[in-house]
Amino acid sequence: MSSDFDGLTAVVTGGASGIGLATAQLFSELGANVAVLDLDPAEVPRPLLGLRADVADDRSVRAAVDTAAEIFGGIDILVNNAGIGAAGTVEDNDDDHWHRVLDINVVGVVRATRAALPHLRRSAYAGIVNTCSIAATAGLPQRALYSASKGAVLALTLAMAADHVHEGIRVNCVNPGTVDTPWVDRLLGSAPDPAAERAALNARQPTGRLVSAREVAAAIVYLAGPGAGSVTGTALAVDGGMAGLRLRPERQ
Ligand code: NAD
Repeated sequence: MSSDFDGLTAVVTGGASGIGLATAQLFSELGANVAVLDLDPAEVPRPLLGLRADVADDRSVRAAVDTAAEIFGGIDILVNNAGIGAAGTVEDNDDDHWHRVLDINVVGVVRATRAALPHLRRSAYAGIVNTCSIAATAGLPQRALYSASKGAVLALTLAMAADHVHEGIRVNCVNPGTVDTPWVDRLLGSAPDPAAERAALNARQPTGRLVSAREVAAAIVYLAGPGAGSVTGTALAVDGGMAGLRLRPERQ
């Protein structure tokens, strides 16, 4: 069966785990060539092409992006998904921590995009999708640094969409709620009562459950694909209704 993605090439940063891996696998199932850029791509399953790159290191990003373009004959889609978390209020993280998280979550998007743009300009179906977060649009407790980084990703998405629309390059982002990935497993593992913490995270979502990585992947693939040719400069919430709904408390 042919699909919109046959013959296209996607590059997914942070594609060795969680949302990135689910996205890379979905692109591949739909017929795209997929390169995964990650700190540790050793376990990336075939036919995905794993390439080592640190989005905090410009040289490694450029080398990996160029390698992907050379092997697959170009790049049509870039998913800027690599990111790290941070907990705390503004009092809790020192300057080095702020610089580190912003360097990966924000400047990392810049580095991968800068490296990919010459290749994207040669594509008839160029699309960029950034993995942002509900933390960009809702105030979450204990997430000052992380939220600032994702707020910047949202603003950057809009600015990039404006800069590149006349080149035929669309730029959008997804805003996931809490997604069931190894990241959240690590978060729960460090909680005093992981089961209670999971129940609290489930309850925070109007749907009553965490978002799956595959659900976020489906939104990313939609925004990246030729079918979304008129969609640019948007943020698509995939959050179980967390950002948009105001529910009445349930009657006991
Ligand atoms: P994850 O930890 O399962 O996967 C993240 C991947 O990024 C890992 O493979 C890791 O090796 C890679 N990575 C980290 N730093 C990197 C770097 N410097 N260079 C290259 N690769 C690097 O996490 P996830 O939950 O799949 O999160 C992916 C993205 O989704 C992140 O940007 C995160 O902020 C965002 N997000 C996650 C959630 C959630 O609840 N899990 C919610 C909203 C947004």
